[in-house]
Amino acid sequence: THFGYKTVDKAQKKSLVAGVFDSVAAKYDVMNDVMSFGIHRLWKRQTLDASGVRKGQRILDLAGGTGDLTAKFSRIVGPQGQVVLADINDSMLKVGRDKLRDMGIVGNVEYVQANAEELPFPDDHFDAITIAFGLRNVTDKDKALRSMLRVLKPGGRLLVLEFSKPEHDVLNSLYDFYSFNVLPQMGGLIANDKESYQYLAESIRMHPNQDTLKQMMEDAGFEQVTYQNMTGGIVALHRGFKF
Ligand code: SAM
Repeated sequence: THFGYKTVDKAQKKSLVAGVFDSVAAKYDVMNDVMSFGIHRLWKRQTLDASGVRKGQRILDLAGGTGDLTAKFSRIVGPQGQVVLADINDSMLKVGRDKLRDMGIVGNVEYVQANAEELPFPDDHFDAITIAFGLRNVTDKDKALRSMLRVLKPGGRLLVLEFSKPEHDVLNSLYDFYSFNVLPQMGGLIANDKESYQYLAESIRMHPNQDTLKQMMEDAGFEQVTYQNMTGGIVALHRGFKF
């Protein structure tokens, strides 16, 4: 089947996304390493560096999935700080929670099942929010960005790590070929789930480019919004502040 991503309505997209992540949860970490040749670790490292997170702070790792960023934040904020890993998907949360417990990360991490569009947290609550490879899957992105702004403390920052638009045509074509041909095949072989990786490729193509996302963050009320491209713009890290 083909997901016909462009024509699905909001309710359909929501259940589509739920199905995809239920389906990939168990193999998610392996697939991340294979598909990105391990480079997602560097992208996350750069996100961590740009986050400015310090000891004692309260951080939201939104759409946190299997918890790569949460694990790192947990160590930085220490016992006086707190990290909330929030994700809409039960299966992903469970894989994340089990993985982090196995790593000995306990005490300052909380797991919350939540939709980014309606965050169940008080106003002015977090020092920083990250959403890594998550915004793309959210149905109403503007609503989600406004919700993030609300729960950030004044002075707090949002970091959006997401697939974006490669800067050069050659890279763009290579990347298109990779994501629409190689990637679904690998998803079929490794995770026995070609469809989910087809969805992934389509969701990447549909996602707003660098300048559009910057504008969306500004429209939602974020200030001093900037972005940096990584790996030639295959991925971009956007940062904005609440004042
Ligand atoms: N942040 C992790 C990482 O970088 O490895 C996981 C990224 S994974 C590609 C995307 C995650 O977004 C999934 O765990 C999915 O359940 C979650 N997600 C999708 N829609 C969401 C929503 N509306 N609210 C919260 N999380 C959502």
